[in-house]
Amino acid sequence: MTPKFYSKENLHFLLHEVFNVEELCKREEFKEHSAAGFDMIIEAADSLSENHLRPILVEMDRNPPRLENGTIKVHPDMEGLMKKFGEDGWISMSAPHRFGGQQVPFTILQASAFIMAAANYSTMAFPFLTNGAAHLIESYGTEELKEAFIPKMYAGQWQGTMALTEPDAGSSLSDLTSSAKASGNGHYLVKGQKVFISCGDHDACENIVHLMLARIEGAPAGTKGISLFVVPKHRMENGKLVSNDVSTAGVFHKMGYHGAPIAHLIMGEKNDCHAYLIGEPHKGLSYMFQMMNEARIGVGCQATSIASAAYYNALEYTKVRTQGRKVGEKNPVKPQIPIINHADVKRLLLFQKAVVEGSLSLVLEASQYFDKWRTSAGEEKEKNFLLLELLTPVVKSYPAEMSILSTSAGLQCFGGYGYTKEFLAELFFRETRIHAIHEGTTAIHGMDLLGRKVMMQGGKAMMLLMQEVMEQIEGAKKYEALKGYAAVLEQKLINLQEVTMHLISVAQTQGPETYLSDGTLYLELFGILVIGWQWLKQGIKTEELKATGNKNYSAEFLQSKLYALQYFFEYEVPKTEGLITRLKSSNHVTVMAKGEEIL
Ligand SMILES: Cc1cc2nc3c(=O)[nH]c(=O)nc-3n(C[C@H](O)[C@H](O)[C@H](O)COP(=O)(O)OP(=O)(O)OC[C@H]3O[C@@H](n4cnc5c(N)ncnc54)[C@H](O)[C@@H]3O)c2cc1C
Repeated sequence: MTPKFYSKENLHFLLHEVFNVEELCKREEFKEHSAAGFDMIIEAADSLSENHLRPILVEMDRNPPRLENGTIKVHPDMEGLMKKFGEDGWISMSAPHRFGGQQVPFTILQASAFIMAAANYSTMAFPFLTNGAAHLIESYGTEELKEAFIPKMYAGQWQGTMALTEPDAGSSLSDLTSSAKASGNGHYLVKGQKVFISCGDHDACENIVHLMLARIEGAPAGTKGISLFVVPKHRMENGKLVSNDVSTAGVFHKMGYHGAPIAHLIMGEKNDCHAYLIGEPHKGLSYMFQMMNEARIGVGCQATSIASAAYYNALEYTKVRTQGRKVGEKNPVKPQIPIINHADVKRLLLFQKAVVEGSLSLVLEASQYFDKWRTSAGEEKEKNFLLLELLTPVVKSYPAEMSILSTSAGLQCFGGYGYTKEFLAELFFRETRIHAIHEGTTAIHGMDLLGRKVMMQGGKAMMLLMQEVMEQIEGAKKYEALKGYAAVLEQKLINLQEVTMHLISVAQTQGPETYLSDGTLYLELFGILVIGWQWLKQGIKTEELKATGNKNYSAEFLQSKLYALQYFFEYEVPKTEGLITRLKSSNHVTVMAKGEEIL
């Protein structure tokens, strides 16, 4: 049997108790769905993961993609899997009916992706990138483009990508130099290089469709001059696919995430790379943000998935590995005890559980804001939009950064064996490292949060978030086991506001460089408090279920939930003290020291 890689009970608890996901079915767009229907989708994701994705995890890790005769070869199962993802509706799941989709809420899409990525992260990059790319054409493309590309993409025949990064434009997208020139025949001719393009070339699909950013000749410098194009690897001519002058210069050899091919592409070497404009010229980055924002929630989700797989892997091991005896045991011939009984091993496990279940809760929270934003109007729409905007850097970065520490704690549970390839602990540790880098590094998200999101509409998003958190704080105060933690979080919110006001005064007196210099640490502080909010939310539901004697959840599940909550407030929340001290300090060594003075 496949080892456990996530908790069904926890996912059910979050979807149905904490987030009442069935409430979404009252909305016109989701009215055909039901709680039972959502459960069937989750079951199907579980079965697909268990039977098809997890069994090839190690094989994929040991046999990374390779470039042969100009094409990247991936694991042979990927071709059948892409067909399956298409035929079984996974790629089009959230798409509207008119595109052959099932209009499933994004929340359920993420819950399914969570399971699949926990089983085998690389395999699910293929369908979910395709989903995001097709959705972008759906939102802004012409009817002609929609007709030409979307059905093949949703069917899993054609792969979708996001082609942004260039050798000299990574974090600084505004510096990208790929160019586009109108051909006079309705299309553009693009030229340029793109690096690190996930699923940018492979032999599991008959075509690859790049959603590519480029600058139309004569466009202004900076982000305002960037346009978005559809650039297929093969274009259709007289009913046949012919080469579109997109060549693969290389495949990156990575530390993990080996199943997914990451390509270096050259477009237009022969001046024959046809590109089709999406939307209006020069507005490309704003359109691309749709795919990037969906992908950022996805990155947070996938980081959580890998931490989840690492956690259950470690949990099982600590129950069977025996070492040492209880502290204070004087009899040396007494049998050794399973290491799960040592306080420090319990610390490692509770840390992982607190990170995984706290992060998953935030992913589902952000996904619900997304669903509500898409399906509402007026004030409700604005509220959900602002909350989502504010939380996007957090839902991307907290799980990404903490998954690195969490999978490391998982590895630590195995001692020396964790450092070997005998167990999967080292694989998960390598696999998750990417999440703090792609879709914008943590530093870029820190600056986005502090420099843009916190200030958005005069701080309106921040105020709305505070209201949401205060609602849970008030709810938690009703429970003896939670009221102390509610008071702690209330105080921390005051501290966060003080820090924010302090930093605003720094911006006014010392300028933007000093203001943003510790954006990453501000994001870290923000993240811990947001996860504290999620834990209180889960705590309230746990207490309610304990009081009503609900039969859906075991007493052990509820007790363990409360231990993880305690762990989070007792071990993680106190870490904010150091961050608050740092963020209020008037010493800005990282600004003061010149680059050339760091030796
Ligand atoms: C496995 C993998 C998959 C990827 N998939 C895709 C994909 O599908 N499509 C795509 O377009 N791209 C993709 N990328 C590219 C990825 O998004 C970039 O690597 C990332 O945005 C960072 O850019 P860079 O590598 O050029 O690093 P740089 O921008 O050179 O950054 C290097 C370091 O400097 C820091 N830094 C840079 N600028 C600043 C600043 N202004 N302030 C503070 N710190 C700064 C960064 O935080 C980082 O720590 C992928 C990358 C990898 C490794």
